[in-house]
Amino acid sequence: MRRTALASAPLLLACLVAPAGAQEDVMTLRAERLTPDLTVLSGFANGNILALTGPDGTLLVDAQSAKRVGLADSVLASLGAPPVRWVINTHYHGDHVEGNALFRGRGAEVVGQERLPVQMVKDTTITSWGDWHRTPAAPAAIPTRTFRDSLTMRVNGQRVVVTHIPAAHTDGDAIVWLPEANVMHIGDLFEHQAPPFIDWWVGGRLAGMLAGVDWGLAHSDSATRIVPGHGPVGTRGDLLRYREMLLGLGTAVAGHVNAGDGVEETQAAHPAAPWQPMLGSQRRMDALVALLYLGLTEFESAALKPRLVPGTPEARLPWLIGCWATSRNGRTIEERWTVAPDGSLAGRGRTLREGRVVDSEVVRITVDQGSLRYTANPQGQAEAVFVASDVTDSSVTFANPAHDFPTRITYRQGAGARLFAEIAGPGSQGERVIPFPYAAVVCQDD
Ligand SMILES: [Zn+2]
Repeated sequence: MRRTALASAPLLLACLVAPAGAQEDVMTLRAERLTPDLTVLSGFANGNILALTGPDGTLLVDAQSAKRVGLADSVLASLGAPPVRWVINTHYHGDHVEGNALFRGRGAEVVGQERLPVQMVKDTTITSWGDWHRTPAAPAAIPTRTFRDSLTMRVNGQRVVVTHIPAAHTDGDAIVWLPEANVMHIGDLFEHQAPPFIDWWVGGRLAGMLAGVDWGLAHSDSATRIVPGHGPVGTRGDLLRYREMLLGLGTAVAGHVNAGDGVEETQAAHPAAPWQPMLGSQRRMDALVALLYLGLTEFESAALKPRLVPGTPEARLPWLIGCWATSRNGRTIEERWTVAPDGSLAGRGRTLREGRVVDSEVVRITVDQGSLRYTANPQGQAEAVFVASDVTDSSVTFANPAHDFPTRITYRQGAGARLFAEIAGPGSQGERVIPFPYAAVVCQDD
C-alpha cells in the first residue's frame, strides 16, 4: 500500500477506504478544497488530480491510473461534483492519463499536448533503466483534442490556460494555470517532498525542467497554490527550494561526470545529502543520482553545461528569478529577472505611471573571476558596473564607490515571496537610501 501523507490538509473533505480484501488493495484518497470550486484529489503513488466544478460541469487536470480512477470517481460523486466534461493531461505517464478512458466513455473531451497520442501508443522496454516496460495506453484514453504551444478555455467562470513546456519531464508536458483562482497544476515538473523524475527516453531534459519551474515562478505570487504532480500542494517558496535542489544536484552530479567518476563513485559521495529532507530515503536519493548521471552522460544537451558549474548567478541568486513590483507616489516600479543560457541573470527594470512606461533599464548579473557583477544600462544614461562586495545565501550587495548615485545596490530575499532592494549613496544631506519593498507578481507577457 502506498499512501501519500499530506503534510497539512486544512480541509479534509473525503477520505475513502475501498472495501477491498487484500491489504495491498486498500486505497486512500484525500480531497483538499483549495477554493469553493477547486479541489485536489491526492493519494497513492498516482498523480494529483485538480478538479474544477461548477454549472458548466467538472473539469479535471489528470485522471490517475486505470486501477485508481474508480476511487477518484467515487470521491467526486461524494463531493457532489457534476459530470466530468473535460480532462486535461499534464503529460502522458499512465498514473496521470489511464483514467481518461472512464471519463471519455461518458462523453468527456480529453485535452493533451500533441505529443501525447504519439507517446501513449508506444510499447517499449527501457533496458538502461531496469528493463522498465512501458505498455501502450488503451485507445479510449488517448486525447480527443490536442494543441502544440498553448490553449485557453473558459470553464465555470475561470480562465484555464494550458501551456506546453518543451523537453522537460517528458516531451509533452503542460502546465495548467487558473489565473483568476491563483492556482496552478504543474504536473511532474514538480514533485513535492519526493525525488523528481526526468524521462530522458521520451525527450525529457533537465534544462526543460528548470525552464518549466521558471515558468511557474514567473506566474506565481505569495498566494499562489501550486499543485505538484505528486505530493502536497505547495507555494512559490516550495517551488524555488525545489529549483535550488534541481540545479544544485545537477551541478554536483555533472562535477562527478566531468571528473571521470563512475555512477557508483558518484553515489558514494552522497551529492544529494544537502537535500535529504526534501528527497527522502538513501535509496531514493541514490536512484535520483543514478538517473541524473545517466541523463547527463547520455542525453542532456551540451548547451546546459555552462549552467552546471558552481557559482553562476543563477546558482547564487535564484531567489531573484521572476517578476517583482512595488508602488509609491502613483508610480509602479517593476523588475523582471530571467536566466540567460550561460547561467547569468538578465534583468529589466521599469517605472510606470498610469500604465505608461516613464523609465526603464536593462541589467545583467554575470560572473567574472568568481565575482558577481551587476551591469546597469539605464535608458539614456551611461553604463554602470557594480561588483558584489557581500554575498550570502539570501542577500547580495554590489558596490561602485566611483559612481555618483547610487554607489551601493542591495537585494535581499524576503519571506513569503518578497524581495527587498535598496539603492544607496551620497546625498546632499549625508547618505541617501531608497528602499524598494517588492512583492512577487505574475509576469505580464509583453
Ligand atoms: Zn510523470
